[in-house]
Amino acid sequence: MQNCLKRQFSVSGLQPTIRKSDLSLTKVPDNKKYVQILHINGNHWVTVSNINAFTSKVKNDRVFIYDSMFFNTITLDLKKKICSLVRPEKDKFEFVAMDILQQSNNNDCGLHAIANTVEILHGFDPVDSNFNTRIMRKHLLQCLDNGIITRFPQLGKCRKRYVNAEKLVVKENISCDCRMPSEQTSEDLIKCSLCHKDLRSSSANTKQHLQTSAKTITKLVSFSIYAVCLFVFFNDSVTKIFVT
Ligand SMILES: [Zn+2]
Repeated sequence: MQNCLKRQFSVSGLQPTIRKSDLSLTKVPDNKKYVQILHINGNHWVTVSNINAFTSKVKNDRVFIYDSMFFNTITLDLKKKICSLVRPEKDKFEFVAMDILQQSNNNDCGLHAIANTVEILHGFDPVDSNFNTRIMRKHLLQCLDNGIITRFPQLGKCRKRYVNAEKLVVKENISCDCRMPSEQTSEDLIKCSLCHKDLRSSSANTKQHLQTSAKTITKLVSFSIYAVCLFVFFNDSVTKIFVT
């Protein structure tokens, strides 16, 4: 399906995701538009992209998630797959879940993921899309027969647009060299979700280093005050001797 779209649109992403490891996606070029359908949590399809109607400039430190069955959480599996595609260069990364039409059953996530991808590729914002869900499957079959994927049929009115159309924004610190998200494995243990490097110790080292620097500065300031006092006292005493 994504190969079919790739022939029709010149945009990054659109990589096949049924692979031995879904974490083997090819990194998309920095600051180029991409759209990608991902298979997540073993049973669900979503669309991710750096294209959004509210922002004309695409950035690779933020991703928009179009999930037709969103339960107000962005799972680690989804974060890992997004990072495998983007490999964020900066340490701060934002996962932004958008407010889109939700599916009315448990089977149509793939259809919605394709329909939302097609909306983005045709220059529309899935936040406004109000698909006619009864004929989505039929439309997809027709498109595959014709070899051209067109926009999915909509009901008359656009969906009600909210101010920012964002349902959830998660800001994550990507600190491991492999550029994958971290996971908290116990109360005080944070590891990289891919290479399992202990990330808590590196932050602890940083803290310790900062504390050591603070102690050194305090010592230096104390010594300087002491030296100034001594100088003033000594200078005063010498002046008194010479004056008297
Ligand atoms: Zn790592």
